[in-house]
Order: sequence, then C-alpha cells, then structure tokens
Amino acid sequence: MNGDSSSTCPFPKRYPSQLLRDDTFFMTLAYNQAIDAWRRNEVPIGAVIEYGGEPVGAAHNEVESTGDPTAHAEMLAITQAARALGDWRLNGATLYVTKEPCPMCSGAALMSRFTRVVYAVPDAKMGCLGGVADLNGIASLNHHLTVTRGVLEDDCLELLRAFFREKRLGGPSAVDEMESPD
Ligand SMILES: [Zn+2]
Repeated sequence: MNGDSSSTCPFPKRYPSQLLRDDTFFMTLAYNQAIDAWRRNEVPIGAVIEYGGEPVGAAHNEVESTGDPTAHAEMLAITQAARALGDWRLNGATLYVTKEPCPMCSGAALMSRFTRVVYAVPDAKMGCLGGVADLNGIASLNHHLTVTRGVLEDDCLELLRAFFREKRLGGPSAVDEMESPD
C-alpha cells in the first residue's frame, strides 16, 4: 500500500450479524466500503450489490486513485456483479449505495435493469433518483427501479461530513448542500 495516499479514518468498520440479510445488513457492508474509500483518501462512498441473499459486487469510489471520473462505487460494483452473474442484466439484484446515485450511476442502474436501488443519503445537488431529478420517472422507459431511501442515512451522512470537514474540500457548506431540504 502506498503510504502517501493512505489516510486514517476515525470511524470503525462494523460487523453485522450474517443471520439477518436485510437492507440494513447490506447497507452496512456498503458503509464499510465507504470507510475503505476514506482510508485511500477517496470521498467515502461505498456500494454493494445483493443477489439471492449474497453480495455479488462491492466497491468504493476510486476517482482520485485511478484518475477516472467514471470510477464511482456503483459503476465498479455493477461491473463486478455482471461478471459474477455472467449476465449484464441484473434483474433480481439490489444496488445498495451510501449516497444517492449521480446522473451517470442512476443511468447505469437503469441500463443494468436492477430490481431495486437502496440509498442512504439523499443528494439534492447531483442525485438523479429523486434528489434533483428522477431518471426512474421517465415514462418512456420500459424498465423501472423500486427505490428505497434513507437506510443508515445518519451514519453515512456523518461519514461524508467528517471526511469533508477533515479534508476541507470546498468547506463544510459543500456537504451541507447534499442534504435534502426536508
Ligand atoms: Zn455516480
């Protein structure tokens, strides 16, 4: 590991019971991915894909380390899941992500034909599953997602806020804008 690019995250990972595979369980795995992102000096956003009660994709934001603007947690996890399942159609799968997907990732979720998307923190600035726009509401699409919001929201928001507070990327107000007005 490159010592120069590592960062100390003050939040510990969590170890939920494997017995109850509910939304909170899979979002906790995504939360742990977000902590891994912080440890690599990336904005702490994590994603996990569930299929048949098992994680088939797990990734975190890697935009800085790869220099690739498409290396969002969701995109990387989707590629993993499609490879694991041997099919680009992810019908029956659920995407868990710690922040509402951006335009690119909301589009990718639709193109991948997920059954569900579950996110923690709404993003009133860039979120495209209801935050600033709702791609899922486009009537001409023949596939729609079932969207669940707010799972583990407080924890994932605190992680993001603390990261920006520490890194001072754009100041605290940049993060406050990510909050839903209600
Ligand atoms: Zn994205």
